[in-house]
Amino acid sequence: MSVERETGVGSLGELWRRGAAQLRQAGVEEANADAELLLLYLLGIGKSALLRDWREAFPAGKSEDWQALLARRASGIPVQYVIGEQYFYGRAFKVTEAVLIPRPETELLAEAVLEAADRIWPGSGNSAPVVLDVGTGSGALAVTLAAERPDWQVVASDLSDEALQVARSNAQSHGADARIAFIQGDLLSPFLRGSSHELAVDVLVSNPPYIPSADIPGLQREVRDHEPRLALDGGDDGLDPYRAMAGQLPLLPRLPRIVAWEVGAGQAPEAAELLRAVADWGDVRFVKDYAGIDRHVVAVK
Ligand code: GLN
Repeated sequence: MSVERETGVGSLGELWRRGAAQLRQAGVEEANADAELLLLYLLGIGKSALLRDWREAFPAGKSEDWQALLARRASGIPVQYVIGEQYFYGRAFKVTEAVLIPRPETELLAEAVLEAADRIWPGSGNSAPVVLDVGTGSGALAVTLAAERPDWQVVASDLSDEALQVARSNAQSHGADARIAFIQGDLLSPFLRGSSHELAVDVLVSNPPYIPSADIPGLQREVRDHEPRLALDGGDDGLDPYRAMAGQLPLLPRLPRIVAWEVGAGQAPEAAELLRAVADWGDVRFVKDYAGIDRHVVAVK
């Protein structure tokens, strides 16, 4: 019996397979996974339903929408922008081209912050930290921290108003909007002594732009052509945002007890040096990503 006979031409499974082939031909790396995400999105179903119902007929009325979704992905638009969503730390985040797509390795930064802060503020007491997420983008870090630790006071900032709107909407979706303040501004500027939103920050977390400017043209087309340059470009050596934040740290009302930064490949030692020049942190450690690269710098005082 042929594969066609078994799966049935026009079944969900067959359309999925053909869609994946179409994406692969267009040079899409994760063609199978992306075709599946697009199909689930189109049908408004979960993966378990697709695995159960893949032999059923593809709804004829949805053919045009299916082709349109495939065409958008084939043109190089990241699948997360096509479907408008990316999961982070178990929660769905809305994403638009105004925000970086949250990366799995950034979940490790959220985890590192939770662990380090739980040691200093063990909870259930009356003290809870004030947490600032600089360059919040989609709000993935700020919303995750606020949702995981409801007693924390979280502030999320971004240079981009458009990004802040996305972050706010994500905070709403996860019931955290009443507990997160959203502030437009550059790095730590709004929060310094005497500034409009002067803030005694206990925990500073940031995944700033860290790609060296000259490396931007060589990025994967999905990233280069669709993700916001504002969220990627870290200046000549990619370290500009860390240098600026390190310079601003002493101008905050007090020094944070925790600074947790995501950094680019090879940048961890220099980022750590920038922090050590500001204060004598008892503990500065690196957290590796899934590729074994030192991806986060966590300083605890
Ligand atoms: N991790 C992103 C990338 O690899 C870069 C994000 C950033 O600059 N903070 O494209």
